[in-house]
Amino acid sequence: MGAYARTSEDKALSADAADWREIGEQVAEQFKDMDELASELGVTITRRYNDNDTPASDPHVVRKGFESMLADLENGTVRGILFYHSDRLVRQEYDAARMNRLFQLNPKYVGRAVAGGTDLSTQEGRSMLALQATMGGMEVYNTKRRVARKNKGLAGHGHMHGAPRPFGWAEDRKTLHETEAEDLRTAILAIPGGLTVGEVRKQWIDLGYEPTRNRKNAGTQSIQHSAVESRLVSPRVCGYRTYLPQAERRGTKRPWMPDFIVYKDGKPVMGDWEAIVSPEEWQACVTTIEERKQARKEGRAVHTTSAKYLLSGIARCGKCSFPLMSNQYSKGTTSYERYGYRYACLTTLGGCGGVTRVGPPVDELVEEAFLLEVRRSLGTGGKDEDFDDTKYNVRLAELDQEISEVNERRRAKRISMGAALDMIEELEGERDELNRQRRQLVAVKVHRQNASPTLLEEWDGYAVAQKKTRLRESVRAVMVHPAGRGRKFDPSLIEVVWIDAGR
Ligand SMILES: [Zn+2]
Repeated sequence: MGAYARTSEDKALSADAADWREIGEQVAEQFKDMDELASELGVTITRRYNDNDTPASDPHVVRKGFESMLADLENGTVRGILFYHSDRLVRQEYDAARMNRLFQLNPKYVGRAVAGGTDLSTQEGRSMLALQATMGGMEVYNTKRRVARKNKGLAGHGHMHGAPRPFGWAEDRKTLHETEAEDLRTAILAIPGGLTVGEVRKQWIDLGYEPTRNRKNAGTQSIQHSAVESRLVSPRVCGYRTYLPQAERRGTKRPWMPDFIVYKDGKPVMGDWEAIVSPEEWQACVTTIEERKQARKEGRAVHTTSAKYLLSGIARCGKCSFPLMSNQYSKGTTSYERYGYRYACLTTLGGCGGVTRVGPPVDELVEEAFLLEVRRSLGTGGKDEDFDDTKYNVRLAELDQEISEVNERRRAKRISMGAALDMIEELEGERDELNRQRRQLVAVKVHRQNASPTLLEEWDGYAVAQKKTRLRESVRAVMVHPAGRGRKFDPSLIEVVWIDAGR
């Protein structure tokens, strides 16, 4: 009995998505499923034909595995074959006809698919194979026409490239692209400092960057927000390998690739390409973007709106908890002369209007409190156990185990596919959440370890945006409580709420 497996490069995937393809892994999966089918059918696999990364729809491509399988079927070396799905086996009418002829001549041959129910020992099964090849051919023809038309348009603009490559890397997918890598790096480093994905998008459009060429909108639209974001958060930028399961690729939503890092023994597996930023720099960027998304989801103010004032987006109204907005006093007034700006709970934005406070004294107070806290944490030598990012490893390993157990039960047909998917989705949800928490802890830990000693020396030279970023790592919010009648600034009405990460 022979077993035939094949994969082809999926041209529909974007360049960033090329990481999804772990070469050989899919073929191994196919063979594994065929082994199970073989034991169900009570047959033994004696030969394996492997056409990894070989298209079946191109008449110019000779599939070596397929051809030697045909020869073996012809001379009786194997008396049947197993395959994953009919579309792995044939995509062209000519190949379907050659296959069907052999099974017509040898009615006792076994020809069964793991998925899709194809049985080549029946006339019905052979007719289906021929029909699918015909239909598949039409689909391929239409796709080719579409791609050819698009490439023609692109070539004129000088954007014609060969195989998809990830943004930031050269065609070899390993060395860095001279301009893209630098632009990507600059953007990733600036995100925690307050730069938004939307602003990066604008910069990239100005720089002439276009959507990935092999996406369907290539050349016709400007680069999408989600495409910019996925480039910024791609684990590939810091060298981490990722693997996206087949099922995750079908959705219309772009997958959140930080959730698909390949871990081995609790550590990310590194790829063999040049990294653009360090894992810590990448984590800081991802964490920032995740926090902003979370804030938007909860209707909180996104803290990147203004990098001009230290506490905009951080300070909140002590009466209604609404984020305080910073604005300038009217020019020419005494308050403008003396303070310049204030923080205020604005009714026009949905606040209670109950709190207004002069800006600079609040900023100074918070800066002082923050630097004091930094000194204190340095003095006590840090509290690493609070930031132990390995504490999730046991549960993560358990989850992987549970997921593969569900798969085992599904394969053994002890539970239905639907029930299995329910369970797997739930387990994957927990796994993704733990991975996210772990990444956040690592980010916090790294900041604590690296930033603190230099921070004290460099603080005064920092721009507001940089100070804000540092502050954000330790300060969750600054509550400005309503003042009484008195006009004097009262420090006791300013309350700093610290982030208690890991506790
Ligand atoms: Zn308020």
